[in-house]
Amino acid sequence: MSFEESDIGGKIRRVIIPAMLPELHLEDVLRLRKPHPCGSYDWKVVRLGADIGLVCLGCGRKVLLPRRDLSRRLKKVISTADGGHDEN
Ligand SMILES: [Zn+2]
Repeated sequence: MSFEESDIGGKIRRVIIPAMLPELHLEDVLRLRKPHPCGSYDWKVVRLGADIGLVCLGCGRKVLLPRRDLSRRLKKVISTADGGHDEN
């Protein structure tokens, strides 16, 4: 009786878990890790869906970011329309 050593579970599958995106609401202001070319770090949420629509608070440019992308770039939520923080 021979027993051949096989490569049991040789590969560990790396599951990349995207950082959780906090619950977002329209009008929320987000700070991203990298500044927009205009110099602003802050963006306002104008669209929710599979892609998140953001407007740059510096220059007004609109972008659509997939949730995964946004979760990677997001630094923090500055204010939420939910009444969390009132800066205006
Ligand atoms: Zn900008």
